[in-house]
Amino acid sequence: MEQEMANGPEAITIGANVGREVDCSQCAKKGKAEEFFSYEGENDNDVYLCKECRTSINSAIENETKDPNIAGAVGLGILASIIGGIAWYYITVTTEREIGYIAIGLGYLIGMAVMIGSKKKRGLKLQFLAAGLTLIAIFVSEYYIYTHFVNEYIQVNLNEFPDFSPGDVADISLFDVGFLKNLLSPIGLLIYAIGAYVAYGIPKAKKI
Ligand SMILES: [Zn+2]
Repeated sequence: MEQEMANGPEAITIGANVGREVDCSQCAKKGKAEEFFSYEGENDNDVYLCKECRTSINSAIENETKDPNIAGAVGLGILASIIGGIAWYYITVTTEREIGYIAIGLGYLIGMAVMIGSKKKRGLKLQFLAAGLTLIAIFVSEYYIYTHFVNEYIQVNLNEFPDFSPGDVADISLFDVGFLKNLLSPIGLLIYAIGAYVAYGIPKAKKI
């Protein structure tokens, strides 16, 4: 692999940087390119870090995944799920359509709440918590949305439902086949997956 690298076009790039003086992007210390760690930055420009800065950034990143406040993450995450879920419900009921962007917004809101609630920590546990809460928020809102539309349909078509009087509300089970079918439509699943994915990405541990 090393041999291959040395003969490949990368070797030319690396060779071109040897002995070149570069600045550490953090502390502006000057040094030789080969003694610094380089990362690909924006616009294909290499970004350099001196050893000290790399070590301190690494430990800061490591620290971010340590001892998250789980109770805080759950608490704030649930609050965001309720607020986001209610917003999802009203937007869907009002527009009478499911909008993918709302899933992104919901995932973002819950992901941020989990991260902030955990005392600005990151890591896999928080990622799963954020994604799980997003899916629960969607499931519960979708249930109320379905119930809303079924009841609206009944009220508009009362002659088809002899058991119902004006204002009667149908009691729909969480496991109602119609609800589950509606919930698990391909486009629906795609939208929920997007929401969960966005939430999952927000408390993700950083890397350099
Ligand atoms: Zn530095």
